[in-house]
Amino acid sequence: MRAVVYDAPRQWSVREVPDPVPADDEVLVQVLQTGVCGTDLHIHEGGFYAEFPLIPGHEVVGVVAGLGGEVTSLELGERVTVNPNVPCHRCDYCRRGQTLVCPNLKGVGTNFPGTFAEYLTMPHQFVYSTEGIDDDVAVFAEPVSCVVHGVGLLAPRPGSTALVFGAGPTGLLFAQLLQRSGAAHVTVAASSKFKLDRALAMGIDAVHLMDRADPTGTATSLMAESGGYDLVVEATGSTEVADLCVPLTRSQGTVLVYGVTDAEDRMTISPYDVFRREISVRGSFAQVDDFPGAVVSLRTGRVDPAGLITHRFALEDYGQALEALQHDRSVHKIVLAPSW
Ligand SMILES: [Zn+2]
Ligand SMILES: [Zn+2]
Repeated sequence: MRAVVYDAPRQWSVREVPDPVPADDEVLVQVLQTGVCGTDLHIHEGGFYAEFPLIPGHEVVGVVAGLGGEVTSLELGERVTVNPNVPCHRCDYCRRGQTLVCPNLKGVGTNFPGTFAEYLTMPHQFVYSTEGIDDDVAVFAEPVSCVVHGVGLLAPRPGSTALVFGAGPTGLLFAQLLQRSGAAHVTVAASSKFKLDRALAMGIDAVHLMDRADPTGTATSLMAESGGYDLVVEATGSTEVADLCVPLTRSQGTVLVYGVTDAEDRMTISPYDVFRREISVRGSFAQVDDFPGAVVSLRTGRVDPAGLITHRFALEDYGQALEALQHDRSVHKIVLAPSW
């Protein structure tokens, strides 16, 4: 089969590799479409615990093209998606049920062969039917699963107000689910008018165009507009933005760190402010058990990614996809398809 293969960070090619063969408990998935994600850029640079050589990619919709002998839960030809995150089930955290923080957590497209390929194999318990859901919707199952997890952690109180920094696909889906999970008013702040227009088209209550060169000015005007927010979500991965979050949070409110930074990055917060105003600062990292919630949310339209796919490339044109992801300001979500 054809696949995008990284031999080392930044060293990749599209080439022929052996076809994967499903083990007894595995499903062979033929990739129909696969989403390119900000995480893939971190992996491109060698971050995010990636193990090389590697076929990246972790957002997929495909069809069942083969079944191991023990698999009875799926049928050949069925539309499916794959939960990429695999805990070890042996460590102390896993044995306490805290599988998401498993120190041995591994992922499709990080440690295992990923979805930027014609086929992948996966144990059947990680494969979910998306039968009846449009492929352009089902391809969002993985980012939506992370959003379901993060919104679940925030558990917005009915009537609460929220600010989401960042209008990438995941920021916008996060803002949308917040609105539909109890938040009474959600603002998205970002530095791209193009992305904020999409936010408004998705029904987000308010948007704020940030001046990247002036984060303090952004904070001042957001505070003047709102008086602060019960929930502030950092979904940009920028530490300059992260520094704005605690001051913009209403007393007894919560900051959620959702964007991916580099491991050595630091954010600055005032411990006195956190103490005096009882601010909670917490993180949300991926998910392990939110695929059922993501699939049902996409099936009912409770989470609706319509309009987010802006660019489509053949697998062979991975280089163009990477270039667009890095430099094209009119990108929301890029999908690759092996057969185009
Ligand atoms: Zn992703
Ligand atoms: Zn574990």
